[in-house]
Amino acid sequence: MIPFARPYLPPRKRLDRYLDRIFESAWLTNDGPLVRELTTRLEQYLGVENLLLVANGTLALQIAFATLEIKGQAVTTPFTFPATSSALLWQGVGPRYAAIDPKTLNLNPHSVERSITESTSGLVPVHTYGNPCKVEAFSALAQRTGLKVIYDGAHAFGVRYKGESILRWGDASTLSLHATKLFHCGEGGAIVFRRYEDLVRAKRLINFGLSDGVPTEIGINAKLSELHAAMGLAVLEDVDDIIQRRVEIVLRYTRLLANHTELPFRSESSTLNGAYMPVLFSSLKERETVRLKLLQNEILARPYFSTSLDQLPIYSNTLKFDRVAEDAAERVLCLPLFYGLEDSEIDRIAKLTISAVGSHTS
Ligand SMILES: *Cc1c(COP(=O)(O)O)cnc(C)c1O
Repeated sequence: MIPFARPYLPPRKRLDRYLDRIFESAWLTNDGPLVRELTTRLEQYLGVENLLLVANGTLALQIAFATLEIKGQAVTTPFTFPATSSALLWQGVGPRYAAIDPKTLNLNPHSVERSITESTSGLVPVHTYGNPCKVEAFSALAQRTGLKVIYDGAHAFGVRYKGESILRWGDASTLSLHATKLFHCGEGGAIVFRRYEDLVRAKRLINFGLSDGVPTEIGINAKLSELHAAMGLAVLEDVDDIIQRRVEIVLRYTRLLANHTELPFRSESSTLNGAYMPVLFSSLKERETVRLKLLQNEILARPYFSTSLDQLPIYSNTLKFDRVAEDAAERVLCLPLFYGLEDSEIDRIAKLTISAVGSHTS
């Protein structure tokens, strides 16, 4: 069976060296030495400041919203993992969906502008599949309107845009460090703030709102543990290799499939990180033909994302259907992509995909 994703496991001996430090200090959580070391190393690696590690990528979004006081409504994309919208709703903020661009599948800034109402306090775009959003347009819009921008950068680890980390854009950008993401702590997340004051406040919010032991505002527990930081530190030593191999895989798939399928358009000003391999088929029927053909051959490809969130009543009471996102959710399929995937397996997956496209009659 070829899985859709396989978590990267670092050499056991290396992980053990970090675990030994935990056993020696008996310091398991609460801003311990490994969390601090991982914070510094991630800031250096990514080229960012004001990075805060948290328990997962969903809490990263929630803490960023709470810190920046996002209230009322936020304009966001329906074409994303459910956590982007759920995090808003858990903070009592209503997602208001704008349209995505049919080529990049990222939020269309013009549609975002038209979706702003009096109760909008923030914009929450996603760098879908690690492809940067139109960040300049969102910055200009934020400046004109005074709205805060929080990017869900869960797919964008290590992506550089015009020579700098994409995570430097917006008032805050978040990362997911979940096991299936390209860099991970098992479970984990991070927020990169533009302003140091916001980092200070968020640090308090993830630790019960405590200031010198006394709660000064309502916080939550969203701390990353030392055990998770140990995993992160062990994986980080290999992250250049991981990204390099994943990008090779994406380029190999792209070379094999480009003439047979549609691939989302990518910004030319940014680096690849090999986060996902999305392919757009001509119809839902063709996508399903390909998916089932791969499944028959014990290959797991995922319709990621399979539903446009604006169509689900739990997320949207306005039910404003975005045809572009709905269409993309019906036609998209992400192919298997992980560090250990072999060239011969990529070739076989591409061949099966092409033959299924060829056999399909609409
Ligand atoms: C993975 C993911 C999240 C959630 O991150 P967790 O660490 O799993 O909580 C949020 N948004 C997007 C776009 C994701 O892909």
